[in-house]
Amino acid sequence: MAKPKVAIGWLGSCGGCDEAVVDINEVLLGVAEAVDLIFWPVALDFKYDSIKAMKDGDIVLSIINGDVRNSEQEEVAKLLREKSQLVLAFGACACFGGTPGLANLRTKNDIFNWVYRDAPTVVNPEGKYPQASTSVNGKELTLPEIYNRVYALNDVIPIDYYLPGCPPPPHLVIAAISAVLENKLPPKGSTLAPHRALCDSCKRNKSKPERMAIRDIKRIHEVEADPDVCFLAQGIICLGPATRDGCGEACMNINIPCRGCFGPVEGVVDSGAKFVSALASILDVQSDEEIERITDQIVDPVGYSYRFALPSSILQKEVSKE
Ligand code: SF4
Repeated sequence: MAKPKVAIGWLGSCGGCDEAVVDINEVLLGVAEAVDLIFWPVALDFKYDSIKAMKDGDIVLSIINGDVRNSEQEEVAKLLREKSQLVLAFGACACFGGTPGLANLRTKNDIFNWVYRDAPTVVNPEGKYPQASTSVNGKELTLPEIYNRVYALNDVIPIDYYLPGCPPPPHLVIAAISAVLENKLPPKGSTLAPHRALCDSCKRNKSKPERMAIRDIKRIHEVEADPDVCFLAQGIICLGPATRDGCGEACMNINIPCRGCFGPVEGVVDSGAKFVSALASILDVQSDEEIERITDQIVDPVGYSYRFALPSSILQKEVSKE
């Protein structure tokens, strides 16, 4: 019997999600035995033309990581979608836009000016910027076109399943692949991770006082955080109340607060707005001056609230309409 064909696509990402596939260790050998891996650019030399030659739906599962910032990424995403029965958005960048999405706080021109002209280490006396098309010795050379903003994968193609995380942890990667191979998938559109908030499973949760009230916000490097006490109770920003559970608490276990890579909890559209609301409910402030004083202590509030999910936030969609 023919093995199910599986593709692993890499769009705008750092490579960490591909490493997460390798991180399933010896389980990968069983997966490699059970499936016909027909595309994995980071590890194997397959060609786009081989995928184009396949029939629609020939690929049982495409696992796609990374955001979409240029025309090549969009083209590959659309090609894999066309040829695949199922598409899994793998990792925070594919699911929500990820940390590269914070670039949406700047225009494309701002970014190009900094990278190719203004950064202190740049030497570019002729002021050359990359172009989608350039004529060299009478020949036309092309590069992918850079888009004005970063997109999450579901802005570009329909997605069947989501597996968040930066990167997704091995136990959830194994569970997701097993669910496909054993045909035990939940309804389409599901996120293959727990449906509760990180706070619900966090071992520090019990340390929360009955009524949380914080008067000062501190950054993690400014204090020696107690490893047994809720970060928020210590006045340190932790996105646990607004973030989906399932990461395995890798950050918590080394005394680093949650930064939200698992995205919004089930049913919540905008994790940043949810976190701002949770934080506002525990600030112990009585006047406008005190509100101003404490909010001024939050360095980079957008970076805190939307570190992994700005492109898929309500805020971003409103900005993009302008
Ligand atoms: Fe744990 Fe952070 Fe939630 Fe506190 S806010 S219980 S530290 S996840």
